[in-house]
Amino acid sequence: MMQKQTEEIIKVDSVSKKYDEKYALKNVSVSVNRGDTVALIGPNGAGKTTFIESILNLKVPEEGSIHVFGIDVLANKKKHLPRVGAHLQEVRLFPKVSPRDFLEFFMQLYDKTADLDEIVSSLELTDFMDKNIGQLSGGMRQRVSLALAMINDPDLVLLDEPTVGLDPIARQDFWRLIQRLQEKGKTILFTTHYMEEATTLASKVIMVHQGEVVFDGPPSIVISKAKEIEGTLDQAYTHYVNAANGQ
Ligand code: ATP
Repeated sequence: MMQKQTEEIIKVDSVSKKYDEKYALKNVSVSVNRGDTVALIGPNGAGKTTFIESILNLKVPEEGSIHVFGIDVLANKKKHLPRVGAHLQEVRLFPKVSPRDFLEFFMQLYDKTADLDEIVSSLELTDFMDKNIGQLSGGMRQRVSLALAMINDPDLVLLDEPTVGLDPIARQDFWRLIQRLQEKGKTILFTTHYMEEATTLASKVIMVHQGEVVFDGPPSIVISKAKEIEGTLDQAYTHYVNAANGQ
């Protein structure tokens, strides 16, 4: 019987990106297959946002190559973007329109769109759809931004700190949203500072530290490491960072 080929959705090869003389990404090589859920984890300033921005072609690395859906992102720039959804940090939404008008406006720009009602109900946004975005709480605006990342029914979803500032109930809604995307076979990459979130939701954990990948593997290895050192998941993370520093 023929084995189904795993499809590489993201292939980042030897990518380096500097700001002035400082590396934000240093010789990073990462591979993400169709259906993977990747948690990108690392301290503030580790390079996580720069990584996501590079995949979106918002930042251009000086060295290396990036392929998304087999498309050379550095050569073809934005060709992969119709099939990508992104939630970025500190995105300003239009404050004077309602989430409904805002999301419907962006839906018109895509050939392929998702079921808005389904997205809105999974994010518990239904009751807020007709208020002004400017009147919503930070957590509610965050959900509107997450909804925006889904409206083109993307094959690849990139989420930069999707749960920052969310209350525990909203975080559970987000977890359910991820599970729903997983059931649909979507490929997801999200950044988080919560190790528990990374090990629970992800099929693959990538840890970065000072622009370098210090761990890339399944969450089971991180969980085993925590047990081995008789520590928490956070301590397992610290272990990998220290090992990378030669400590
Ligand atoms: P956080 O968890 O705080 O969001 P991060 O892992 O996303 O951090 P990045 O935002 O990618 O980290 O930043 C990586 C490094 O690059 C940091 O040292 C940061 O100060 C630096 N950096 C990011 N953007 C710029 C810029 N536009 N100009 C100069 N330096 C930058």
